Amino acid sequence: MARRGALVRWFEDVRRDDVASVGGKNASLGEMTAKLRDAGIAVPGGFATTAAAYRQVLREAGLDDAMREQLEALERDPEALPKVGAALRKLVREAPLPKALEAEVREAYAELSRRYEVEAADVAVRSSATAEDLPEASFAGQQETFLNVRGADAVLAAVRRCMASLFTDRAIAYRDRHGFDHLSVALSVGVQKMVRSDMAGAGVAFTLDPETGFPRVVVINAAFGLGESVVSGQVDPDQYVVFRPLLGQARPIVDKRRGGKEIRVDYGEGGEGRETVTLEVPEGERLRWVLSDDEILTLATWCERIEAHYGRPMDIEWAKDGESGELFIVQARPETVQRGRNPTSLESFRLEGEGERLVTGLAIGQGIAAGPVCVLGSAAEGAAFPEGGVLVTAMTDPDWVPVMRRAAAIVTDHGGRTSHAAIVSRELGVPAVIGAGDATATLRSGDEVTVSCAEGDAGYVYRGRLAWRQEAISLEDLPETRTRLMMNLATPDAAFRWWRLPARGVGLARMEFILSDAIRVHPMALLRPEQVEDAAARREIEALTAGYEDKAEYFVERLAFGIARIAAALHPEPVVVRTSDFKTNEYAQLLGGRAFEPREENPMLGFRGASRYYSPRYRDAFALECRALRRVREEMGLANVVVMIPFCRTLEEADRVLEIMAEQGLRRGERGLEVFVMAEIPSNILLTEGFAERFDGFSIGSNDLTQLTLGVDRDSAELKHVFDERNPAVKALVADLIRRAHAAGRKVGICGQAPSDYPDFAAFLVEEGIDSISLNPDSLVRTLHTVAEAEARLKPS
Ligand code: PEP
Ligand code: MG
Repeated sequence: MARRGALVRWFEDVRRDDVASVGGKNASLGEMTAKLRDAGIAVPGGFATTAAAYRQVLREAGLDDAMREQLEALERDPEALPKVGAALRKLVREAPLPKALEAEVREAYAELSRRYEVEAADVAVRSSATAEDLPEASFAGQQETFLNVRGADAVLAAVRRCMASLFTDRAIAYRDRHGFDHLSVALSVGVQKMVRSDMAGAGVAFTLDPETGFPRVVVINAAFGLGESVVSGQVDPDQYVVFRPLLGQARPIVDKRRGGKEIRVDYGEGGEGRETVTLEVPEGERLRWVLSDDEILTLATWCERIEAHYGRPMDIEWAKDGESGELFIVQARPETVQRGRNPTSLESFRLEGEGERLVTGLAIGQGIAAGPVCVLGSAAEGAAFPEGGVLVTAMTDPDWVPVMRRAAAIVTDHGGRTSHAAIVSRELGVPAVIGAGDATATLRSGDEVTVSCAEGDAGYVYRGRLAWRQEAISLEDLPETRTRLMMNLATPDAAFRWWRLPARGVGLARMEFILSDAIRVHPMALLRPEQVEDAAARREIEALTAGYEDKAEYFVERLAFGIARIAAALHPEPVVVRTSDFKTNEYAQLLGGRAFEPREENPMLGFRGASRYYSPRYRDAFALECRALRRVREEMGLANVVVMIPFCRTLEEADRVLEIMAEQGLRRGERGLEVFVMAEIPSNILLTEGFAERFDGFSIGSNDLTQLTLGVDRDSAELKHVFDERNPAVKALVADLIRRAHAAGRKVGICGQAPSDYPDFAAFLVEEGIDSISLNPDSLVRTLHTVAEAEARLKPS
């Protein structure tokens, strides 16, 4: 029976504005229990002791004077913190619980057990601190939690310890730093039915991308065992990304990355809880995903509803019960890092120097910093840390924050995107490379290094101080243009990074980058592994494809996720994905590639582009590319993907490729599929009308077009002075294409480098009436102004 008490309150009787009474954590559990159950969201049941209960404990035990005395001692001598903290905790822990409170807790616990039809429910006992006059203040992570507590006596003991944990050294120091009065804070204790995630898994979810603030995804982290491992960053979790706008219409899981998941946190021995143990996860087990696709989609839908209910981005903890197989939400709070960030400019970093990569991990933030390495074993060694140093350590917890504040960059061996190290670095704006595995062993104190988080998802530590460029791109007063400005996106990892730019689609996503970054194996080597003779390559291919029954599925899945991230970043605007266009020497670099690629004298003029797709040497691999494109468009629902064929030399080639695509289920015109062709060989322009009959649009590849018009190897250093897209011959072809394609009812865009580099070339394109210009993200805003000016000049006055 639910009841409302001054000392104990059931979650269902608590609302979000009860923070002063039950703290933020419990108020939010109450709000969700009461308001979101009807939306299908499961929250484990429970109750909370109130701030009034805490105050009554202090009052009835007459602790006021003794506590004041301790705090005065601390004021006189800040060094006395450990002694004062211990004394304060002892005072609270040993204070007898008022009879009424004890009775209410016992009764509520018995009722909770009855509700779950067990004799003694296993519960989590958690602290939720609150400040009288500042209920919004966040004291997250400062006080204690006890897991798997069973029996009324054990619950009461845990309640007392939680109250005492309001005076952990860390919490005292935090309040001192932020000017909170130690005696006007209070502690509410939440007692919540445990979810048996020890038998399944748990983790964290955000209703935006915590790295870039991209708001249209839910990002879920998941590990086996208790969620503590994810929150504290002990484990490298699975990560799933769900594209929110298509939830309910398709299956929009746009990325899944398998975490290392070497360990899991489990219940320890003994009923009082608190003790948890860290166990190793067997190797075979680590390859399993923690959640199924259905569960990922359910959880994402719940997160979406939670955000809608609170009206702001949320940071959510979830757990899966291994006994019942059910999912639960165990916590939800506003996301704090990205919220409130509404930059009027975008900071863009680019590494200019080249150097040796010493360490690789997850990139947190997008910055670059350099400094001397300082490897530390514990936060207690913090005094030795030099201002502006690069902090290198196994992992961090709240005790590390003062050191982290002084660091130019942070590198840790362990942790995922939601670990303590990641959250704090992001908040401090310090670039961090997290989960780097062996950083503490590889990097030596005193060595100068450069830490770069500006290269997508992966972060790198380079030897020495390298040069980099930092730019602020203003997002204010952006003009509207008739010409559609799009972006060229290289790696899927960086796709969400530029979402604030005013791009109206992606004009070129080069599939090769996904192959080399996210797949790394030659597709034919996955289809015919027995033909790979290089033993080292075979071993690596085995390792990369472990957990996949079918190696071809590894290729299709990784490729589909890569494409999907890019397509999601700009959805519903068009995203033009070009089928693979490596040269033979580049394909040969992929694992197992040598066995399948001919050696060519002139790869640039060789077996590339459309010619590959119908050749027996590559045709089956092209079919895999088509399968991935279909999956993205049809299963994930990202129908904004346009397919583009590169380096298509003749009309006959065009026909053959389109036929193969149709056989693979990618038929032009069906399900809204558009197919473009690159205009990058003079033949594409000389035969504009023929290509226009076969394709829905053209995209000018000015790099190849210049090379082939002027007969200059685009990579030749010797001939650099001759290679210029602004040569009248190239411009004549471009102008001709635009005119004739328009006459044939086809649109023309450009995705070569020229307009990103030369504003005058961008202006020329506008004058010729080009429909779209696709640019490097960091030159988009600048070119937008150039284009607007060129358009204004064209207007009849
Ligand atoms: C081009 O040739 O201009 C182009 C965009 O393609 P790539 O640079 O990939 O050859
Ligand atoms: Mg090209």
